[in-house]
Amino acid sequence: MANNEDQFKKVISHAKEYGYIFGSSEIYDGLSAVYDYGQNGVELKKNIREYWWRSMVYMHQNIVGLDAAILMHPTTWKASGHVDAFNDPLIDNKDSKKRFRADVLIEDYAEKIHQKAQKEIDKAKKRFGESFDEAQFVATNDRVVRYKKEQKEILERMARSLEAEDLADVKALIEELGIADPDTGSKNWTDVRQFNLMFGTKLGASAESATDLYLRPETAQGIFVNFLNVQKSGRMKIPFGIAQTGKAFRNEIVARQFIFRMREFEQMEMQFFVKPGEEMKWYEYWKETRLNWHHSLGLGKENYRFHDHEKLAHYANAAADIEFNFPFGFKELEGIHSRTDFDLKAHEEFSGKKLQFFDHETNKNYTPYVVETSIGLDRMFLAVMSNSLEEETLEDGSTRTVLKLPSILAPVKAAVLPLVKKDGLPEIAEKIIEDLKWDYNVTYDEKDAVGRRYRRQDANGTPFCITVDHQTKEDNTVTIRYRDSMEQERIAIEDIASKMEETISFKKWLS
Ligand code: ATP
Repeated sequence: MANNEDQFKKVISHAKEYGYIFGSSEIYDGLSAVYDYGQNGVELKKNIREYWWRSMVYMHQNIVGLDAAILMHPTTWKASGHVDAFNDPLIDNKDSKKRFRADVLIEDYAEKIHQKAQKEIDKAKKRFGESFDEAQFVATNDRVVRYKKEQKEILERMARSLEAEDLADVKALIEELGIADPDTGSKNWTDVRQFNLMFGTKLGASAESATDLYLRPETAQGIFVNFLNVQKSGRMKIPFGIAQTGKAFRNEIVARQFIFRMREFEQMEMQFFVKPGEEMKWYEYWKETRLNWHHSLGLGKENYRFHDHEKLAHYANAAADIEFNFPFGFKELEGIHSRTDFDLKAHEEFSGKKLQFFDHETNKNYTPYVVETSIGLDRMFLAVMSNSLEEETLEDGSTRTVLKLPSILAPVKAAVLPLVKKDGLPEIAEKIIEDLKWDYNVTYDEKDAVGRRYRRQDANGTPFCITVDHQTKEDNTVTIRYRDSMEQERIAIEDIASKMEETISFKKWLS
């Protein structure tokens, strides 16, 4: 995958041209960092959600689902710490008048140092070939050791300062490192300030009696406040998990990367409740399980890496991100957090209601610890989309645009195409669709020459094209064409469904 701005621009325009993503309320010039999913986008998004849901809920006997409301009692957000601590440190550039996240500026700087070290390693790898001992090189090469140390010191200092709310030191660090506005090069910075990311709204009719509410900034709290409802009604035994997908809202300071950072987005979260003391075992289990889920989609193992957190959130005792190689570099796609008993204890304290598990074996109550997996559905969408879009040069020198989506996720699974618009071929095509539509989202296309129709379906990510021609009338066979290989095969109409099933079954992909 091209690791550059150009590829990113192509993804954005392709997403619009093929009905995947539109800017929100575009006719009014749009709303910054808010997006709408078009006719294909909504299908891809639904398929990603379902792929996640099946792997979490149906594949684990001890995980169940939940759909909590977006609006919650406002004390929820006092207890969770979001009212006091859901802040991002922001900094303005006085010359360009642009606003940045101070921590992101510093992290990007540290990433550049990391890349310098990586370059040295790659160079050495080339030079020494087979006999290269990477671990030894990293531990002993002067330059690499220096880069790694520098990167670590910067990130540690930032973590310490943010932890201690020492925003003056965060600014000092930006100045000492000589970090400039990436667009203009200006180093004329304001002080760093904290900015709360929650959107406020009101419940009730009259201004005086209305209650201040927040749009939820994460789905997790809906799970915590329902912990006992689900545990009791489902007679769940520890360890068990509750999974939920749904909208979350954050008034992000900078949102310039398409659907990577949105103000309204969707999360897929699972909170796993465990015995205190066993959280590290489960933390490791979920790190591995979630990485395997990503690998199952075949976007390339080299495009994922773990990033262990230096700075832990107020609720966590261990945290890691699964980062993906987006067109703008490796960035967080999913978080796995060991949240301790922070949330359940806090809700107990603020609500005055017990949120504990009664262990029948020991006849004792305890507050479970929680391991969370939290992934942004829109970010996953971007990962899939940007990884799948390719410009291919074919043997005859021509090019084709193809969206090589994992077939299990593709919005449209097959296009049925009558070779010509007459001689009864459209009727046969319609009949094939009648038969397939019970199991698959399929489409009909009769416009233009068949070659052009193939290209249109390639660009749309449709894994199969099924062409009905005159021979079909004689022997009930069709041509099935595969998107990625462009190979064609003659098969019986009655075999189409099983042919598709071979490639597009959850069992095949998830196992
Ligand atoms: P970041 O550091 O990128 O702001 P975060 O660490 O605040 O993310 P979490 O609170 O851990 O994110 O949320 C879990 C997941 O939700 C993230 O891994 C990401 O995939 C997704 N997510 C968070 N914020 C956004 C957003 N503004 N737009 C789209 N997805 C988001």
